[in-house]
This record gives sequence, structure tokens and C-alpha cells, in this order.
Amino acid sequence: MKLQLRSSSETFDVPRNLGIALIVIGNGQIIEPPPPAPRVLSPNSKWTISELLDGTPLLAVTCLNCKRSATGYGPTVGRTLKFTHCGVTEYPPAEIDKAYSAAYRRAHGERPAHRAPGTVSVI
Ligand SMILES: [Zn+2]
Repeated sequence: MKLQLRSSSETFDVPRNLGIALIVIGNGQIIEPPPPAPRVLSPNSKWTISELLDGTPLLAVTCLNCKRSATGYGPTVGRTLKFTHCGVTEYPPAEIDKAYSAAYRRAHGERPAHRAPGTVSVI
């Protein structure tokens, strides 16, 4: 254990039993080692758009530093895919959202996602 004598600022590595004996008689105090500094990584995300077997576009992101990843698909995933890593939370950049949304519309036809009640479409 690391021990510091009260009469000195010097620290010593001593056997545990000796250290406890010195503490009991009031001549020593335990020196706790400082906690290791947290490892800080910088985000380095790579966003990609690929396709599932049925043609649905798949949005994926991987961080090249921490190696975490996330995937998702659906009409809003280009805006809503949440990616938490390296101490930050990211969402797809605007250009990825635009590219993914275009791919999704192509894969599912260009029909609107929602129609107001009572409207009729004529084909
Ligand atoms: Zn990361």
C-alpha cells in the first residue's frame, strides 16, 4: 500500500500490515492513487445508406473511433436515428436525411405518407 508519514511529504510503498500498524499509532496515512483520467474519444461518424433484401433503404452509422454503430429504417429515420457515442448524441446530417428520404420514397413509390380524411385520389 502507499503510505505517507505524517512528518514527511514523501510516500512509501509498504507491506499492508506495516502500513496499518503505522496508521494505528498515528504516524501514517493512506495515499489513494488518483483515479485514471477518463478516456476521451472524438466522434468520427460515417453514415451510409444501403438496402434490405426487399428494397427498403437502411440507414447505418458507425463511429470510426469508438466502433459503436446504429441502424434503422422507416419514413422518418433520416431525421430521427439517434446515435450516442464518444460522449455525444448525433442525428443524421441534413444531406443524409435528404438522400435517405429520397431513397425511401423511391422504394415505396412517391405516394404521400398521409392523406387528409375525406379526400379521394383519382388514378
Ligand atoms: Zn464514437
